[in-house]
Amino acid sequence: MSFNSTSSKSFVRLENILIIGNGGRENSLAWAIQKNELVKKIYLIPGNAGSERINKCERIVIDPNNKNKLLEKLEFLNIDLVVIGPEIPLANGLADFLRTKDFKVFGPGKDGAKLEYSKSWAKEFMHDANIPTANFWKVTSLEEAKNIIYSSLTPLIVKVDGLASGKGVFIPDTRDECFKAAKSIYNGKFGDSGNVIVLEEKIQGPEVSIFALCDGERYILLPSAQDHKRLNEKDKGPNTGGMGAYSPAPLLTKDYLERIIQEIIEPTINELKKKNIDYKGVIYFGLMITESGPKVIEYNCRFGDPECQTIMPLMDKDFVLLLEKCSMGNLSGEEKIDNYEKVSGCVIATSKGYPNEYKTGLPIKIGETDSIDCQIFDSGTSIGKNGELLTNGGRVLSIVCQEKDFDKVFEKAYKNLKEIYFVGMYFRNDIGYQVRKNFYREN
Ligand code: AMP
Repeated sequence: MSFNSTSSKSFVRLENILIIGNGGRENSLAWAIQKNELVKKIYLIPGNAGSERINKCERIVIDPNNKNKLLEKLEFLNIDLVVIGPEIPLANGLADFLRTKDFKVFGPGKDGAKLEYSKSWAKEFMHDANIPTANFWKVTSLEEAKNIIYSSLTPLIVKVDGLASGKGVFIPDTRDECFKAAKSIYNGKFGDSGNVIVLEEKIQGPEVSIFALCDGERYILLPSAQDHKRLNEKDKGPNTGGMGAYSPAPLLTKDYLERIIQEIIEPTINELKKKNIDYKGVIYFGLMITESGPKVIEYNCRFGDPECQTIMPLMDKDFVLLLEKCSMGNLSGEEKIDNYEKVSGCVIATSKGYPNEYKTGLPIKIGETDSIDCQIFDSGTSIGKNGELLTNGGRVLSIVCQEKDFDKVFEKAYKNLKEIYFVGMYFRNDIGYQVRKNFYREN
Protein backbone atom coordinates (compact mmCIF):
# COMPACT_ATOMS: atom_id res chain seq x y z
CA MET A 1 0.00 0.00 0.00
CA SER A 2 1.45 3.36 -0.78
CA PHE A 3 -0.21 6.67 -0.38
CA ASN A 4 0.77 9.89 1.15
CA SER A 5 -0.53 9.76 4.65
CA THR A 6 1.95 12.14 6.20
CA SER A 7 -0.33 15.11 5.95
CA SER A 8 -3.15 13.31 7.73
CA LYS A 9 -0.82 11.93 10.39
CA SER A 10 -0.34 15.26 12.05
CA PHE A 11 -4.07 15.84 12.37
CA VAL A 12 -5.72 12.48 12.72
CA ARG A 13 -6.28 11.11 16.19
CA LEU A 14 -6.41 7.36 16.10
CA GLU A 15 -5.25 6.42 19.57
CA ASN A 16 -8.26 4.41 20.62
CA ILE A 17 -10.08 2.13 18.23
CA LEU A 18 -13.17 0.10 18.92
CA ILE A 19 -14.08 -2.99 16.91
CA ILE A 20 -17.48 -4.61 17.26
CA GLY A 21 -17.73 -8.36 16.60
CA ASN A 22 -16.39 -11.67 17.86
CA GLY A 23 -14.95 -13.65 14.96
CA GLY A 24 -11.81 -14.29 12.96
CA ARG A 25 -12.74 -11.30 10.83
CA GLU A 26 -12.60 -8.87 13.76
CA ASN A 27 -9.34 -10.35 15.06
CA SER A 28 -7.72 -9.95 11.67
CA LEU A 29 -8.96 -6.35 11.43
CA ALA A 30 -7.48 -5.68 14.86
CA TRP A 31 -4.20 -7.26 13.79
CA ALA A 32 -3.98 -5.05 10.70
CA ILE A 33 -5.00 -1.93 12.63
CA GLN A 34 -2.45 -2.41 15.45
CA LYS A 35 0.41 -2.08 12.96
CA ASN A 36 -0.05 1.68 12.85
CA GLU A 37 1.98 3.66 15.38
CA LEU A 38 -0.85 6.17 15.88
CA VAL A 39 -2.95 3.41 17.40
CA LYS A 40 -2.36 2.90 21.11
CA LYS A 41 -5.26 0.70 22.11
CA ILE A 42 -7.85 -1.47 20.35
CA TYR A 43 -10.97 -2.52 22.21
CA LEU A 44 -13.09 -5.39 20.97
CA ILE A 45 -16.73 -5.81 21.92
CA PRO A 46 -16.87 -8.70 22.65
CA GLY A 47 -13.92 -10.19 20.68
CA ASN A 48 -12.97 -13.75 21.59
CA ALA A 49 -10.17 -15.54 23.42
CA GLY A 50 -7.76 -14.89 20.54
CA SER A 51 -8.26 -11.11 20.67
CA GLU A 52 -6.08 -10.80 23.76
CA ARG A 53 -3.12 -12.41 21.99
CA ILE A 54 -3.11 -9.50 19.53
CA ASN A 55 -0.87 -6.55 20.31
CA LYS A 56 -2.67 -3.52 21.86
CA CYS A 57 -6.00 -5.39 22.14
CA GLU A 58 -8.37 -5.61 25.06
CA ARG A 59 -11.82 -7.15 25.25
CA ILE A 60 -14.82 -5.39 26.74
CA VAL A 61 -17.83 -7.19 28.07
CA ILE A 62 -20.85 -5.02 27.33
CA ASP A 63 -24.01 -5.59 25.33
CA PRO A 64 -23.63 -3.58 22.10
CA ASN A 65 -27.44 -3.58 21.79
CA ASN A 66 -27.66 -1.48 24.92
CA LYS A 67 -26.96 1.73 23.05
CA ASN A 68 -26.80 4.04 26.04
CA LYS A 69 -24.34 1.84 27.95
CA LEU A 70 -22.26 1.52 24.81
CA LEU A 71 -22.22 5.25 24.31
CA GLU A 72 -21.16 5.84 27.91
CA LYS A 73 -18.29 3.40 27.45
CA LEU A 74 -17.15 4.90 24.16
CA GLU A 75 -17.09 8.35 25.66
CA PHE A 76 -15.21 7.11 28.71
CA LEU A 77 -12.61 5.37 26.53
CA ASN A 78 -12.18 8.35 24.20
CA ILE A 79 -12.78 6.23 21.14
CA ASP A 80 -11.47 7.82 17.93
CA LEU A 81 -12.84 5.33 15.40
CA VAL A 82 -15.47 2.60 15.57
CA VAL A 83 -15.26 -0.32 13.15
CA ILE A 84 -18.39 -2.46 12.99
CA GLY A 85 -17.66 -6.01 11.79
CA PRO A 86 -20.91 -8.00 11.57
CA GLU A 87 -24.09 -7.33 9.64
CA ILE A 88 -26.64 -7.47 12.47
CA PRO A 89 -25.58 -4.28 14.32
CA LEU A 90 -25.30 -2.53 10.94
CA ALA A 91 -28.80 -3.66 9.97
CA ASN A 92 -30.01 -2.45 13.37
CA GLY A 93 -28.70 1.05 12.70
CA LEU A 94 -25.79 1.11 15.16
CA ALA A 95 -23.61 3.12 12.76
CA ASP A 96 -26.39 5.74 12.36
CA PHE A 97 -26.80 6.01 16.11
CA LEU A 98 -23.07 6.48 16.77
CA ARG A 99 -22.78 9.04 13.98
CA THR A 100 -25.53 11.12 15.52
CA LYS A 101 -23.32 11.16 18.63
CA ASP A 102 -20.37 12.43 16.56
CA PHE A 103 -18.32 9.25 16.50
CA LYS A 104 -16.34 8.35 13.41
CA VAL A 105 -17.71 5.04 12.22
CA PHE A 106 -16.54 2.62 9.56
CA GLY A 107 -19.70 0.77 8.56
CA PRO A 108 -22.80 1.77 6.59
CA GLY A 109 -26.02 3.03 8.10
CA LYS A 110 -29.20 1.00 8.07
CA ASP A 111 -30.08 2.22 4.58
CA GLY A 112 -26.80 0.95 3.10
CA ALA A 113 -26.89 -2.30 5.07
CA LYS A 114 -30.12 -3.09 3.23
CA LEU A 115 -27.91 -4.31 0.38
CA GLU A 116 -27.37 -7.32 2.61
CA TYR A 117 -30.37 -7.57 4.91
CA SER A 118 -32.92 -7.61 2.12
CA LYS A 119 -32.03 -9.78 -0.85
CA SER A 120 -35.14 -8.67 -2.74
CA TRP A 121 -34.25 -5.01 -2.20
CA ALA A 122 -30.71 -5.70 -3.42
CA LYS A 123 -32.07 -7.43 -6.53
CA GLU A 124 -34.34 -4.46 -7.26
CA PHE A 125 -31.41 -2.12 -6.66
CA MET A 126 -29.39 -4.03 -9.28
CA HIS A 127 -32.31 -4.00 -11.63
CA ASP A 128 -32.65 -0.20 -11.27
CA ALA A 129 -28.95 0.29 -12.01
CA ASN A 130 -28.78 -2.26 -14.82
CA ILE A 131 -26.19 -4.30 -12.91
CA PRO A 132 -25.83 -7.86 -14.24
CA THR A 133 -27.27 -10.50 -11.90
CA ALA A 134 -29.29 -13.74 -12.14
CA ASN A 135 -32.96 -13.33 -13.13
CA PHE A 136 -35.21 -13.35 -10.08
CA TRP A 137 -38.73 -13.30 -8.69
CA LYS A 138 -39.68 -11.66 -5.42
CA VAL A 139 -42.30 -13.87 -3.83
CA THR A 140 -44.62 -13.20 -0.90
CA SER A 141 -46.61 -16.44 -0.59
CA LEU A 142 -46.08 -20.18 -0.96
CA GLU A 143 -48.79 -20.34 -3.59
CA GLU A 144 -46.96 -17.80 -5.72
CA ALA A 145 -43.68 -19.66 -5.17
CA LYS A 146 -45.30 -22.93 -6.25
CA ASN A 147 -46.53 -21.44 -9.52
CA ILE A 148 -43.13 -20.02 -10.40
CA ILE A 149 -41.18 -23.11 -9.32
CA TYR A 150 -43.30 -25.53 -11.37
CA SER A 151 -43.53 -23.35 -14.43
CA SER A 152 -39.74 -22.96 -14.58
CA LEU A 153 -37.84 -25.33 -16.87
CA THR A 154 -34.98 -25.70 -14.39
CA PRO A 155 -34.84 -25.86 -10.59
CA LEU A 156 -34.51 -22.37 -9.13
CA ILE A 157 -32.34 -21.20 -6.25
CA VAL A 158 -34.39 -20.31 -3.16
CA LYS A 159 -33.27 -17.45 -0.92
CA VAL A 160 -34.67 -16.09 2.31
CA ASP A 161 -35.08 -12.33 1.95
CA GLY A 162 -33.75 -11.31 5.38
CA LEU A 163 -30.64 -12.14 7.39
CA ALA A 164 -30.22 -15.86 7.99
CA SER A 165 -26.62 -16.28 9.24
CA GLY A 166 -25.51 -17.65 5.89
CA LYS A 167 -28.11 -20.44 6.02
CA GLY A 168 -30.84 -18.87 3.93
CA VAL A 169 -29.80 -20.08 0.47
CA PHE A 170 -31.02 -23.39 -0.96
CA ILE A 171 -29.60 -24.88 -4.14
CA PRO A 172 -32.02 -27.65 -5.06
CA ASP A 173 -31.46 -30.27 -7.78
CA THR A 174 -35.13 -30.78 -8.57
CA ARG A 175 -38.25 -28.66 -8.65
CA ASP A 176 -39.76 -30.75 -5.82
CA GLU A 177 -36.75 -30.03 -3.65
CA CYS A 178 -37.11 -26.40 -4.56
CA PHE A 179 -40.73 -26.37 -3.45
CA LYS A 180 -39.78 -28.19 -0.23
CA ALA A 181 -37.25 -25.46 0.54
CA ALA A 182 -39.82 -22.72 -0.10
CA LYS A 183 -42.32 -24.56 2.11
CA SER A 184 -39.85 -24.85 4.99
CA ILE A 185 -39.30 -21.10 4.84
CA TYR A 186 -43.03 -20.32 4.83
CA ASN A 187 -43.46 -22.77 7.71
CA GLY A 188 -41.46 -20.33 9.80
CA LYS A 189 -37.95 -21.81 9.73
CA PHE A 190 -36.45 -18.31 9.51
CA GLY A 191 -39.10 -16.29 11.38
CA ASP A 192 -39.80 -12.87 9.92
CA SER A 193 -36.70 -13.08 7.69
CA GLY A 194 -38.66 -15.58 5.58
CA ASN A 195 -41.85 -13.62 4.94
CA VAL A 196 -40.45 -12.78 1.54
CA ILE A 197 -38.35 -15.12 -0.55
CA VAL A 198 -36.36 -14.62 -3.71
CA LEU A 199 -36.37 -17.28 -6.41
CA GLU A 200 -33.41 -17.07 -8.70
CA GLU A 201 -32.26 -18.52 -11.96
CA LYS A 202 -29.22 -20.76 -11.38
CA ILE A 203 -26.11 -19.37 -13.01
CA GLN A 204 -22.72 -21.00 -13.38
CA GLY A 205 -19.07 -20.12 -13.18
CA PRO A 206 -16.26 -19.57 -10.71
CA GLU A 207 -16.95 -17.21 -7.84
CA VAL A 208 -14.81 -14.31 -6.75
CA SER A 209 -15.06 -11.78 -3.93
CA ILE A 210 -14.31 -8.12 -4.33
CA PHE A 211 -14.21 -5.55 -1.55
CA ALA A 212 -14.62 -1.83 -2.07
CA LEU A 213 -13.89 0.60 0.75
CA CYS A 214 -16.30 3.51 0.26
CA ASP A 215 -16.47 6.96 1.77
CA GLY A 216 -19.92 7.83 0.42
CA GLU A 217 -18.48 9.40 -2.71
CA ARG A 218 -15.35 7.53 -3.78
CA TYR A 219 -14.02 4.02 -3.32
CA ILE A 220 -10.88 1.95 -3.51
CA LEU A 221 -10.60 -1.78 -4.09
CA LEU A 222 -8.85 -4.26 -1.85
CA PRO A 223 -7.19 -7.31 -3.41
CA SER A 224 -9.72 -9.83 -4.71
CA ALA A 225 -10.22 -13.22 -3.08
CA GLN A 226 -11.77 -16.61 -3.68
CA ASP A 227 -13.22 -18.69 -0.90
CA HIS A 228 -14.43 -22.25 -0.48
CA LYS A 229 -17.93 -22.37 0.95
CA ARG A 230 -18.58 -26.10 0.82
CA LEU A 231 -17.68 -28.28 3.78
CA ASN A 232 -15.91 -31.08 1.93
CA GLU A 233 -13.07 -31.48 -0.54
CA LYS A 234 -13.79 -31.09 -4.26
CA ASP A 235 -16.26 -28.35 -3.20
CA LYS A 236 -18.83 -30.92 -2.11
CA GLY A 237 -21.15 -31.08 0.87
CA PRO A 238 -23.23 -28.43 2.61
CA ASN A 239 -22.57 -24.71 2.40
CA THR A 240 -20.68 -23.29 5.38
CA GLY A 241 -19.57 -19.84 6.47
CA GLY A 242 -16.32 -20.57 4.61
CA MET A 243 -13.64 -23.28 4.89
CA GLY A 244 -10.73 -21.31 3.47
CA ALA A 245 -9.74 -18.65 0.98
CA TYR A 246 -6.88 -17.17 -1.00
CA SER A 247 -5.99 -13.72 -2.25
CA PRO A 248 -5.54 -12.18 -4.74
CA ALA A 249 -7.60 -14.25 -7.19
CA PRO A 250 -5.42 -14.88 -10.29
CA LEU A 251 -8.63 -15.55 -12.19
CA LEU A 252 -9.17 -11.81 -12.43
CA THR A 253 -6.93 -10.32 -15.08
CA LYS A 254 -6.46 -6.57 -15.15
CA ASP A 255 -8.82 -6.28 -18.12
CA TYR A 256 -11.48 -8.42 -16.55
CA LEU A 257 -11.30 -6.41 -13.34
CA GLU A 258 -11.74 -3.26 -15.42
CA ARG A 259 -14.89 -4.79 -16.91
CA ILE A 260 -16.19 -5.55 -13.40
CA ILE A 261 -15.47 -1.98 -12.35
CA GLN A 262 -17.39 -0.58 -15.32
CA GLU A 263 -20.33 -2.99 -15.23
CA ILE A 264 -20.75 -3.58 -11.52
CA ILE A 265 -18.69 -1.53 -9.07
CA GLU A 266 -19.19 1.97 -10.41
CA PRO A 267 -22.90 1.45 -11.18
CA THR A 268 -23.33 0.23 -7.57
CA ILE A 269 -21.61 3.27 -6.08
CA ASN A 270 -23.57 5.59 -8.39
CA GLU A 271 -26.89 3.95 -7.58
CA LEU A 272 -26.20 4.33 -3.85
CA LYS A 273 -25.60 8.03 -4.40
CA LYS A 274 -28.70 8.29 -6.57
CA LYS A 275 -30.72 6.76 -3.75
CA ASN A 276 -29.13 9.25 -1.29
CA ILE A 277 -27.38 6.51 0.63
CA ASP A 278 -24.20 7.86 2.20
CA TYR A 279 -22.32 4.55 2.31
CA LYS A 280 -19.25 4.73 4.54
CA GLY A 281 -17.90 1.24 4.89
CA VAL A 282 -17.02 -1.80 2.87
CA ILE A 283 -19.16 -3.32 0.13
CA TYR A 284 -18.56 -6.97 -0.53
CA PHE A 285 -19.38 -8.01 -4.08
CA GLY A 286 -19.93 -11.77 -4.36
CA LEU A 287 -19.54 -12.33 -8.09
CA MET A 288 -19.89 -15.21 -10.47
CA ILE A 289 -17.84 -15.18 -13.65
CA THR A 290 -20.32 -16.62 -16.16
CA GLU A 291 -19.91 -17.25 -19.88
CA SER A 292 -21.84 -14.08 -20.55
CA GLY A 293 -19.76 -11.98 -18.15
CA PRO A 294 -19.56 -11.14 -14.45
CA LYS A 295 -22.78 -11.23 -12.43
CA VAL A 296 -23.52 -10.27 -8.85
CA ILE A 297 -24.58 -13.19 -6.66
CA GLU A 298 -24.92 -11.06 -3.57
CA TYR A 299 -23.81 -7.94 -1.77
CA ASN A 300 -22.69 -7.86 1.84
CA CYS A 301 -22.35 -4.72 3.92
CA ARG A 302 -19.24 -6.01 5.74
CA PHE A 303 -16.01 -7.89 5.21
CA GLY A 304 -16.42 -11.55 4.32
CA ASP A 305 -15.06 -14.19 6.63
CA PRO A 306 -12.57 -15.89 5.91
CA GLU A 307 -11.64 -13.51 3.08
CA CYS A 308 -10.94 -10.75 5.60
CA GLN A 309 -8.45 -12.92 7.53
CA THR A 310 -6.80 -13.71 4.19
CA ILE A 311 -6.55 -10.14 2.91
CA MET A 312 -5.61 -8.29 6.13
CA PRO A 313 -2.00 -9.61 6.23
CA LEU A 314 -1.53 -8.04 2.79
CA MET A 315 -2.31 -4.58 4.17
CA ASP A 316 0.44 -2.33 5.41
CA LYS A 317 0.38 -0.16 8.51
CA ASP A 318 -1.70 2.57 6.88
CA PHE A 319 -4.77 0.38 6.54
CA VAL A 320 -6.39 2.04 9.54
CA LEU A 321 -5.99 5.42 7.84
CA LEU A 322 -8.09 4.14 4.96
CA LEU A 323 -10.84 3.14 7.37
CA GLU A 324 -10.67 6.56 8.98
CA LYS A 325 -10.79 8.31 5.61
CA CYS A 326 -13.89 6.31 4.68
CA SER A 327 -15.56 7.24 7.94
CA MET A 328 -14.87 10.93 7.23
CA GLY A 329 -15.71 10.96 3.52
CA ASN A 330 -12.06 11.81 2.80
CA LEU A 331 -10.86 9.16 0.37
CA SER A 332 -9.08 10.54 -2.64
CA GLY A 333 -9.79 7.33 -4.56
CA GLU A 334 -6.12 7.43 -5.60
CA GLU A 335 -4.78 5.44 -2.67
CA LYS A 336 -2.84 2.57 -4.16
CA ILE A 337 -3.03 -0.79 -2.51
CA ASP A 338 -2.17 -3.08 -5.37
CA ASN A 339 1.52 -3.40 -4.80
CA TYR A 340 1.92 -6.78 -3.18
CA GLU A 341 4.96 -8.92 -3.17
CA LYS A 342 3.19 -11.79 -1.49
CA VAL A 343 0.01 -13.76 -1.82
CA SER A 344 -2.07 -15.06 1.06
CA GLY A 345 -4.07 -18.18 1.89
CA CYS A 346 -6.27 -19.25 4.78
CA VAL A 347 -7.46 -22.65 6.00
CA ILE A 348 -10.22 -22.88 8.59
CA ALA A 349 -10.15 -25.52 11.32
CA THR A 350 -13.69 -26.46 12.31
CA SER A 351 -15.41 -28.54 14.96
CA LYS A 352 -16.67 -31.98 13.98
CA GLY A 353 -20.34 -31.73 13.00
CA TYR A 354 -20.19 -28.12 11.76
CA PRO A 355 -22.24 -26.59 10.05
CA ASN A 356 -24.80 -28.58 12.06
CA GLU A 357 -24.46 -29.69 15.68
CA TYR A 358 -21.02 -29.64 17.27
CA LYS A 359 -19.45 -29.74 20.71
CA THR A 360 -17.79 -26.76 22.34
CA GLY A 361 -15.44 -26.43 25.30
CA LEU A 362 -12.79 -28.81 23.92
CA PRO A 363 -9.18 -27.93 24.79
CA ILE A 364 -7.03 -26.63 21.92
CA LYS A 365 -3.29 -27.32 21.79
CA ILE A 366 -1.11 -25.06 19.69
CA GLY A 367 2.52 -26.11 19.26
CA GLU A 368 5.40 -24.34 17.50
CA THR A 369 3.89 -22.33 14.69
CA ASP A 370 5.79 -20.01 12.36
CA SER A 371 6.09 -16.49 13.66
CA ILE A 372 6.75 -14.78 10.33
CA ASP A 373 4.05 -14.43 7.69
CA CYS A 374 1.81 -16.86 9.51
CA GLN A 375 -1.13 -15.82 11.67
CA ILE A 376 -3.60 -17.80 13.71
CA PHE A 377 -6.79 -15.80 14.09
CA ASP A 378 -9.30 -17.28 16.51
CA SER A 379 -12.75 -17.60 14.99
CA GLY A 380 -14.60 -19.35 17.80
CA THR A 381 -12.64 -19.84 21.02
CA SER A 382 -12.97 -19.13 24.72
CA ILE A 383 -10.77 -19.32 27.80
CA GLY A 384 -11.45 -22.08 30.35
CA LYS A 385 -11.36 -21.84 34.16
CA ASN A 386 -7.67 -22.61 34.26
CA GLY A 387 -6.76 -20.23 31.45
CA GLU A 388 -6.75 -22.91 28.78
CA LEU A 389 -7.86 -22.23 25.21
CA LEU A 390 -11.16 -23.96 24.35
CA THR A 391 -13.26 -24.43 21.23
CA ASN A 392 -16.33 -22.22 21.25
CA GLY A 393 -17.80 -22.34 17.76
CA GLY A 394 -18.19 -24.29 14.55
CA ARG A 395 -15.35 -22.47 12.91
CA VAL A 396 -12.59 -22.46 15.51
CA LEU A 397 -9.32 -21.14 14.06
CA SER A 398 -8.18 -19.44 10.84
CA ILE A 399 -4.63 -20.36 9.83
CA VAL A 400 -3.32 -17.74 7.42
CA CYS A 401 0.06 -17.70 5.61
CA GLN A 402 1.79 -15.45 3.09
CA GLU A 403 4.49 -16.43 0.63
CA LYS A 404 5.65 -15.57 -2.86
CA ASP A 405 3.36 -18.14 -4.49
CA PHE A 406 0.31 -20.17 -3.58
CA ASP A 407 2.13 -23.51 -3.49
CA LYS A 408 4.38 -22.19 -0.76
CA VAL A 409 1.46 -20.50 1.00
CA PHE A 410 -0.52 -23.70 1.36
CA GLU A 411 2.52 -25.85 2.11
CA LYS A 412 3.17 -23.50 5.01
CA ALA A 413 -0.47 -23.37 6.13
CA TYR A 414 -0.78 -27.17 6.24
CA LYS A 415 2.60 -27.52 7.97
CA ASN A 416 1.39 -25.13 10.68
CA LEU A 417 -1.93 -26.93 10.96
CA LYS A 418 0.01 -30.02 12.08
CA GLU A 419 0.92 -28.02 15.19
CA ILE A 420 -2.72 -27.53 16.14
CA TYR A 421 -4.96 -30.10 17.77
CA PHE A 422 -8.37 -30.42 19.32
CA VAL A 423 -10.75 -33.38 19.45
CA GLY A 424 -12.80 -33.56 16.26
CA MET A 425 -10.74 -30.91 14.44
CA TYR A 426 -11.63 -30.92 10.75
CA PHE A 427 -10.27 -29.00 7.80
CA ARG A 428 -10.15 -29.34 4.04
CA ASN A 429 -6.83 -30.36 2.54
CA ASP A 430 -7.57 -28.89 -0.86
CA ILE A 431 -8.03 -25.20 -0.10
CA GLY A 432 -6.71 -23.19 -3.05
CA TYR A 433 -6.50 -26.22 -5.34
CA GLN A 434 -7.24 -23.95 -8.30
CA VAL A 435 -4.02 -22.00 -7.73
CA ARG A 436 -1.69 -24.70 -6.41
CA LYS A 437 0.49 -25.94 -9.26
CA ASN A 438 1.78 -28.79 -7.10
CA PHE A 439 -1.68 -29.87 -6.13
CA TYR A 440 -2.57 -33.26 -7.47
CA ARG A 441 -5.92 -34.80 -6.90
CA GLU A 442 -7.25 -38.14 -8.02
CA ASN A 443 -10.79 -37.68 -9.21
P1 AMP B 1 -25.34 -16.18 -1.19
O1 AMP B 1 -25.55 -16.33 0.29
O2 AMP B 1 -26.40 -15.41 -1.91
O3 AMP B 1 -23.94 -15.77 -1.52
O4 AMP B 1 -25.35 -17.66 -1.76
C1 AMP B 1 -24.50 -18.65 -1.25
C2 AMP B 1 -23.93 -19.43 -2.38
O5 AMP B 1 -24.99 -20.01 -3.16
C3 AMP B 1 -23.14 -18.60 -3.39
O6 AMP B 1 -21.83 -18.40 -3.00
C4 AMP B 1 -23.24 -19.45 -4.63
O7 AMP B 1 -22.30 -20.52 -4.59
C5 AMP B 1 -24.63 -20.05 -4.53
N1 AMP B 1 -25.59 -19.24 -5.31
C6 AMP B 1 -26.32 -18.20 -4.88
N2 AMP B 1 -27.08 -17.69 -5.85
C7 AMP B 1 -26.83 -18.43 -6.94
C8 AMP B 1 -27.32 -18.42 -8.30
N3 AMP B 1 -28.23 -17.54 -8.71
N4 AMP B 1 -26.82 -19.35 -9.16
C9 AMP B 1 -25.90 -20.25 -8.74
N5 AMP B 1 -25.42 -20.33 -7.50
C10 AMP B 1 -25.86 -19.44 -6.59
